[in-house]
Amino acid sequence: MFSTSNKFEKVFKDRLRKTYFKDVKDSTIRERYHVLGMLVKEEMADQWIDTHEKIEKEDAKQIHYFSMEFLLGRLITNNLINLGIRDVAEAGFKSLGFDLNEVEDYESDPGLGNGGLGRLAACFLDSMASLKIPGSGNCIRYRYGLFRQRIKNGYQEERPDNWLNDGYVWEVRKTEESESIPFYGHVEYHNGDMVYKPGEFIRAVPYDIPIIGDDNGFVNQLRIWSAEPDKRYPEYKSPFEYESELEQISGFLYPDDSTHEGKTLRLKQQYFLSAAGLKSIIKKHKAKYNTMDNFAEKNVIHINDTHPALLIPEMMRILLDEEHMSWDKAWDITNHTFAYTNHTILAEALERWSVNIIQPLLPRVYQLIEEIDRRFVEKMNQDGESIDKINDLRIINHNEVRMAHLCIISSFSVNGVAKLHTDILKNIEMKDFNDLYPNKFVNITNGITHRRWLLHSNPELSEFLNKKIGQEYQKNPKDLEKLLEFVDDKNTQKEFLKIKKIKKDALAKRIYEEQGIEIDSNSIFDIQVKRLHEYKRQLMNAIHIMYVYHQLKTSKEYRENYVPHTYIFGAKAAGSYHFAKKIIKLINTIATKVNNDPETNSYLKVIFVENYNVSYAEMIMPACDVSEQISTASKEASGTGNMKFMMNGALTLGTLDGANVEIKELVGDDNIYIFGLDANEVNTLNASHKYNPRTLYETDSTINLLLKQLVNGFFDQVDREEFREIFENLVNRDPYYVLKDFHAYLKASELVNEAYKDQSHWAKMALINIGKSGEFSSDRSIRDYSQKIWEIDSLS
Ligand SMILES: *Cc1c(COP(=O)(O)O)cnc(C)c1O
Repeated sequence: MFSTSNKFEKVFKDRLRKTYFKDVKDSTIRERYHVLGMLVKEEMADQWIDTHEKIEKEDAKQIHYFSMEFLLGRLITNNLINLGIRDVAEAGFKSLGFDLNEVEDYESDPGLGNGGLGRLAACFLDSMASLKIPGSGNCIRYRYGLFRQRIKNGYQEERPDNWLNDGYVWEVRKTEESESIPFYGHVEYHNGDMVYKPGEFIRAVPYDIPIIGDDNGFVNQLRIWSAEPDKRYPEYKSPFEYESELEQISGFLYPDDSTHEGKTLRLKQQYFLSAAGLKSIIKKHKAKYNTMDNFAEKNVIHINDTHPALLIPEMMRILLDEEHMSWDKAWDITNHTFAYTNHTILAEALERWSVNIIQPLLPRVYQLIEEIDRRFVEKMNQDGESIDKINDLRIINHNEVRMAHLCIISSFSVNGVAKLHTDILKNIEMKDFNDLYPNKFVNITNGITHRRWLLHSNPELSEFLNKKIGQEYQKNPKDLEKLLEFVDDKNTQKEFLKIKKIKKDALAKRIYEEQGIEIDSNSIFDIQVKRLHEYKRQLMNAIHIMYVYHQLKTSKEYRENYVPHTYIFGAKAAGSYHFAKKIIKLINTIATKVNNDPETNSYLKVIFVENYNVSYAEMIMPACDVSEQISTASKEASGTGNMKFMMNGALTLGTLDGANVEIKELVGDDNIYIFGLDANEVNTLNASHKYNPRTLYETDSTINLLLKQLVNGFFDQVDREEFREIFENLVNRDPYYVLKDFHAYLKASELVNEAYKDQSHWAKMALINIGKSGEFSSDRSIRDYSQKIWEIDSLS
């Protein structure tokens, strides 16, 4: 039906009449969206079925990627492009008198994730399908995704994200594949067997979302699980209590991926996902092979951060209690099944669950965690390890279960997400584990799908690349290196700058329409978009802007040297993260002051975009000149925003942290702006306990002046005490070395300012960044996972 635009038009009209009983000319955007979605789904139906059959027929090993978050973004454009039918649909819409973009923009942006971790999972699904790797995702079908952000009077407000309001056209409910998930109850001992008597059951209903490979006939899926009432109501609860509790299990995404949320509900969600997903995988495996003996040969289960770590004891439970295997056999299979990705070394983000929470909720699963721990301790003892070391490494300590330790001990592979991060894991944070299991730790540097983050979000740049270097890079992003031949060519540079300007204009237009602020697209677009966290140091950026403003006001020479800048921020702060929300208020307060000062506002504007999400990112990345990646060294495991910016020809202004280190290695020192403490220096300074920010405040006149502005009424639109706690935090503790790195940051920013004046050289640097960015395609990451960890081949 998509073979020609005429044919498509005819089918579309007909289907719209039969679905909504209307002529196409009277249809609404929602109706057009829905009908288009249905037709696309039908178009891929055969491919989806064929892919299943192929995996079945070839007896292929499969990867099951478990993550509490998948930040998919919109799928419609992605699906149209990957099926190779977007042009036909566009032409068909045009001749019907409609705009395809309008319909594409109508789709809700499923925010089933917080930020980088969830977006990574989504990029990985795209790459697996595009590389024909049999792999599916498992997640929760949160009724409400990450909150929608509103900025009111400079403060963040959180509104529910009602993404399922109009139904979601891509999901397919699989009622027959529902599972019952047990909670609470107790364990009985019957003639040598442990028998779990659950207190209640909750029904898990899967919905499958197709993940379409790039023009290759291959379709994987993301399975999202919804909680519904089980047939068996618990006797000890009122039906109302039972229903309202269970609704919450797939009710909300937790609005923070890096602080420990000590609530039973969060643990319920984790077990719900783990148990439901695992049961359905095992059911399929047993239907095919009628044994669990070969499970690890046919399946790898990947644990994305520790959130789904309960998969491990759940697997043991099934093998022991249901398959009646010996411990050793069950452990051997479990040990060959799971691979774990560590995403953070921030102590507060390493999950620990109190025994008092786990044990009553999951009595049998907890017993098995205890037994895994007991056997680990016994083995360490036999090997003559010291008590101290055993206590450091064991799973249960101080009445808490350390989920990372459970994962490391039970998985065959543990990987970090960038070279620096993996080195820190191996040599510092998890050193004893690395000594114990010398081959378990692996690095797989993160990546981003170049299909979404270049081809789809920047068609102008893609078209330019097609002309310059041919289309091969689309399948093989390493081929972007062919661009290096042209970086000195003046015409190429000019064309690139022209495209950059088009994308900056488009972003400026959106900002004007949504926020009523005019920005100059000839100014430098200096952008920091990511979750709001102290370690990411949006605060350092903000204080630097205060510095620039002060200089513009007081120094003629500075003003004459200054290239106009537009500083753009986008960030959501977890609703409960008070300090982060203060930083948002500060940025908005600076913006109001600066943007309304007629003396300086042709030089300096500050924008805080509302509700930064994947769809917004797709507009922002291509429009960026300077990519701010300024986390305190050692704190950002990888970052992926840095890669999206690079691929679209922005220059990185950043610290030697996460994947910035690898960006620098690739592009060379001359094509990136690196400043500040490195990871070793940060660790040394941390360990010495010698850092005293107050001394800097008292002795450094610049820092003194700027920090005083936080509390001396300088920001006359807000209460004088509004930013007192930011002031106190910086002067007394400054845990992320904002003041320590401040001058280095300032100097690097001045180099950027100077460099931008030479547009030809700037374009050259940007082109080098694009040319080297193929390394960060998630296709490369997924090939690495397939070869180094999963041992899974692409199907032919
Ligand atoms: C890529 C992306 C992130 C991750 O950004 P970092 O700078 O790596 O933290 C977060 N949110 C969205 C919407 C993204 O697209």
